[in-house]
Amino acid sequence: MPDSTVCLSFDFDALSVWLAYDRVTPAMLNRGEYGARVGVPRILDLLDGHGLKATFFVPGHTVESFRDETEAIVAGGHEVAHHSYAHVDPSGQSYDEERADMERAWAVLEGIGVRPLGFRSPSADLSASTLELVEELGFLYDSSLMTDDYRPFRPRIGDRVSRESPLERGRDAGFWELPMCFELDDWVHFQFNFDPYRKGGAPPSHVLEIWRAEFDWMDEHVDGGVLTICMHPQVIGRGHRIGMLDELIGHCLDAGARFERMGDVAQRLEGSR
Ligand SMILES: [Zn+2]
Repeated sequence: MPDSTVCLSFDFDALSVWLAYDRVTPAMLNRGEYGARVGVPRILDLLDGHGLKATFFVPGHTVESFRDETEAIVAGGHEVAHHSYAHVDPSGQSYDEERADMERAWAVLEGIGVRPLGFRSPSADLSASTLELVEELGFLYDSSLMTDDYRPFRPRIGDRVSRESPLERGRDAGFWELPMCFELDDWVHFQFNFDPYRKGGAPPSHVLEIWRAEFDWMDEHVDGGVLTICMHPQVIGRGHRIGMLDELIGHCLDAGARFERMGDVAQRLEGSR
């Protein structure tokens, strides 16, 4: 039996993702607000309709700006996980800046009664210290890397490599990696932008074809596979896209897949070690 798991994850970035751009305008910020105003309620309705629980990575900035929407996510039984304070790419932060940012976001989540189990790096990029900080702060899992696809694993800390010297492997981290990928990220396919220019605008049938084929291949070939899909309320919330997500959920349910919060997957893996 394939025993497949699907994790629906939503990066509720709201304004914070736009504040990370060089040029920030009110129109860009309003695009972010769409995620809170329309995207989140629509996603919560869809999940409720199927009786599914999901994982929301919420920056501290979003929690403080859209408290009611974040509390509705928690009240719905969904997982709220750590996604930095203001969506600043950690690869440009010093160790102290990154640590302070992570601690600030952690404190904001604790302020709404959430003890985060997981972390996803903003911009899907890391600094040389990120994984060490994830371990130090006591997270059970990270979901930022693309080393594997359908199998959670222990990421390595302290790898050394350069153009002159081959890979010297570091040690295994004390937390799990639930890998993500750009193919399963709605932003990459759908999100149009003027500057920097992003074409976006993929037809949902095109993305459904990719996401369904990823699930089908895993379900056929990988025993106990975990498919992590990364979405953004401000992107997937549009009618033609949320309809596609509804169709994908139906397809995976028909195939017998289980839908889980990422924290539950990580706890299950930890328990079976
Ligand atoms: Zn994000």
